[in-house]
Amino acid sequence: MIGGKIYNDQTTLIKGGYVLTMDRELGDLPHTDVVIDGEKIVAVGPNLEVSSRANVIDARNRIVMPGFVDTHRHTWQTPVRGVLPSCTLDQYFSGMLNNIGIQYRAEDVYIANLMGALEAVNAGITTLLDWSHVNNTPEHSDAAVHGLDEAGIRAIYAHGVPVGNEWWSYSSKKHPEDIRRIRKEYFQSDDQLLTLALAARAPGNTTPEVAKHDWELARDLGIRISVHVGMRLTGVHVNHVLSLHELGLLGPDTTYIHCTDSTDEELDLIAKSGGTASVAPYVEMLMGHGVPPTGRLVARGVRPSLSIDVVSSVPGEMFTQMRTALVQERILAFTETPDIAFAPSLTHRDVLEFATIDGARACALDHKIGSITPGKQADIILLSTDQVNVAPVVDPVATVVISADTSNVDTVFVAGKVLKQNGRLTRIDMPRLLNRLDNARDHLLSNAGVIPKWILTRSDD
Ligand SMILES: [Zn+2]
Repeated sequence: MIGGKIYNDQTTLIKGGYVLTMDRELGDLPHTDVVIDGEKIVAVGPNLEVSSRANVIDARNRIVMPGFVDTHRHTWQTPVRGVLPSCTLDQYFSGMLNNIGIQYRAEDVYIANLMGALEAVNAGITTLLDWSHVNNTPEHSDAAVHGLDEAGIRAIYAHGVPVGNEWWSYSSKKHPEDIRRIRKEYFQSDDQLLTLALAARAPGNTTPEVAKHDWELARDLGIRISVHVGMRLTGVHVNHVLSLHELGLLGPDTTYIHCTDSTDEELDLIAKSGGTASVAPYVEMLMGHGVPPTGRLVARGVRPSLSIDVVSSVPGEMFTQMRTALVQERILAFTETPDIAFAPSLTHRDVLEFATIDGARACALDHKIGSITPGKQADIILLSTDQVNVAPVVDPVATVVISADTSNVDTVFVAGKVLKQNGRLTRIDMPRLLNRLDNARDHLLSNAGVIPKWILTRSDD
């Protein structure tokens, strides 16, 4: 821990909060100060002193913690939030990807990514992996990047293919070469707020030759790979991870999403290869991808990250994911007989780590974010504890995982910049953006033939 005086005028002092550093060496620190200088955290400790011109935030009734990391969200679906509340995975593929998805214009992707990223920031998510598979034209990709950029969030733009069955059903179409242009145009540096990844299709979604091509493309570009594996679909029998292994493609640069129906052997292969995982427990149970593999991954030393996946069916914040992951894994420890005591192993701290530092690890960004550690980027959130749903605080980790929600997210810093303050997003013309979002919804759902009558019959009276 660093103490002492800091006299730089660019500093912000977050004073006297309960700091959950999520850094196992620093631990949980009551009555503690955090100093931000520019983009970085420079000090964590009691009674730190700063220049009289520094910005001081009174954090006495705040939990101070690193921002959440959502390791997989199809942000483009923001304008159709809640359109498929109780669908199955089969219904999602036909209703969303093969109907609504093909209606997207570039401008719909822009407002989707901007509003989806703002939704994330509002909920204390400071890093978002945008799994973008609506790249129907290069303009759609440009719009996606611009939307993320304008929101000010830290994001990994995971570039995927266009929508349409021909890209997903044992496809012989290679990943679009346009990703090379995108790398050059927007992502020349890997040391910026927005970085690039390849949102890959697994073997089975493509021919083995295409899978090989796509993995080699990502590695040629020097970017990480994110891939959906192991979801159960009616009549489909593919062991995605095993297929990747047989093709010699597994590696530490890949994040495996869901893994719900992956075999133990496949999870062993992920662990052995140094790969990372993203579990989306709410959607996996809702749509029937299979049983979330949280405990099976932990048992192999793969600390999972958590993800939202789709706001067409899932709440867009991490509190729900943490709580769902926790109780789902704990009941799996239930035995068939009362003669053996119920002995679950997963704890509240585990799921809080999944949602922060383990998410950072899953994106290979843990050297920069995921904990409140001097030297890291200042991606920090302050949760109000003087509110009726969280007071009084006894155990701050429990407060966050059991009781807190988006309404408690008071302040959000990304790379030292304030994106939310006093419970409100900053720098945003919300009425204008909401209007654009409604227009995108109306266009998409009308053209897909699924717009509810009440929307068409509304009046402004
Ligand atoms: Zn997904």
